[in-house]
Amino acid sequence: MTLKLPRGTQDILPGEVEKWQYIETLARELCERFQYKEIRTPIFEHTEVFTKGVGDTTDIVQKEMYSFVDRGGRSLTLRPEGTASAVRSFVEHKMFGYASQPVKLFYMGPMFRYERPQAGRYRQFVQFGVEALGSADPAIDAEVIALAMSIYQSLGLKKLKLIINSLGDKESRNAHRAALINHFSPRIEEFCSDCKARLEKNPLRILDCKKDREHELMSTAPSILEYLNDDSRKYFEKVQKYLTNLGISFEVDPNLVRGLDYYNQTAFEIMSDAEGFGAITTLCGGGRYNGLVEESGGPETPGIGFALSIERCLAALSAEGIELPIHQGIDCFLASLGEEAKNYTVELLHKLRLAGFSAERDYLDRKIKGQLKAADRLQAKYVAILGDDELQANKITVKAMDTGEQVEVSIDAFIEEFTAIYKKG
Ligand code: ATP
Ligand code: MG
Repeated sequence: MTLKLPRGTQDILPGEVEKWQYIETLARELCERFQYKEIRTPIFEHTEVFTKGVGDTTDIVQKEMYSFVDRGGRSLTLRPEGTASAVRSFVEHKMFGYASQPVKLFYMGPMFRYERPQAGRYRQFVQFGVEALGSADPAIDAEVIALAMSIYQSLGLKKLKLIINSLGDKESRNAHRAALINHFSPRIEEFCSDCKARLEKNPLRILDCKKDREHELMSTAPSILEYLNDDSRKYFEKVQKYLTNLGISFEVDPNLVRGLDYYNQTAFEIMSDAEGFGAITTLCGGGRYNGLVEESGGPETPGIGFALSIERCLAALSAEGIELPIHQGIDCFLASLGEEAKNYTVELLHKLRLAGFSAERDYLDRKIKGQLKAADRLQAKYVAILGDDELQANKITVKAMDTGEQVEVSIDAFIEEFTAIYKKG
């Protein structure tokens, strides 16, 4: 019997993994510039972290969690998203007391959701996300959105659509909630069982239902924007003004409802409208979650964040036909002729590597022709060729593979000589 990987997971092999590393490095660099610091939380948490933090009316909690009981009888869950863990950690380590506020964090790593696997939807996927905790300045909302946009733009993506909405503050949400209940309850029997349950618990989530999307009551549902109170409206206007000033174009979509229960005020999604992207076009989702820290046992603390997956980012790149500028090839291949020379390349290779060069030699006892072929396959910039006679004479030949130019240098000074050639070349 051959063993296979679980449904909805993937092996990322050399050749493909470089793309992941490229995106991950870019995200880290942008976080440094935007001053978000990395946080690493456990891959599993107590299940309550998510039932409370994500909200028990969400698809994630109701259908998608990988939960298990450990040998000590505790219910643990593989993290389905990053915000709940970041907030748990924020409260546990009393980050609200840090001298430097707001606390700006980022995370990157695998998340697990029991979903129906399809293009762009995996059971294990890698999310990169940020959280800014401790500020209710709409400038932070704009900053967080700008960071997400910068990642995609730095990758060369052009077919991006940013949609934003405001879910309002508590007062606005409550007024809207009452209006939604009024709107849906006379005909709730026509909706799916999930929506029936949502009506009293969190009617906003009916608008996010994938099954009842086409129901006529959906398009006529009362818009949150009509229920925003003054504060919420002003807040939303400021976010929009900042985005405009940053040159970030957006559309306001009053039907944008994020899946998680804890959102309020700003909500946003970045979509790809590249042709051929497929059915799932959301690349990134985020929003403000004032109140979550308090619910998690901390002091009242505003927060905002987003999460995106590397998988969908890669899908968008391929839909737009973008090749990432991934460095390929090695600096030097050490070829040898004769037993002694071959033995000596072990040392020389190690010295090259310690001096900072990517270098390789033959390990399959190939003839010189085969070694040069291997060097070609590795896209070596230079090949250094050492024979037994040359070894005696303290000489080694360095050949530039692009021009074919060759020079002989002394073995004793090989590293210095090679460094000089490399710099010039
Ligand atoms: P969707 O509506 O596509 O299910 P979601 O609302 O569940 O998305 P979030 O929880 O907001 O998604 O996660 C943020 C981002 O993580 C998404 O915009 C998407 O890029 C990515 N993502 C979510 N689920 C998956 C998955 N199963 N596989 C790959 N990427 C995912
Ligand atoms: Mg989902």
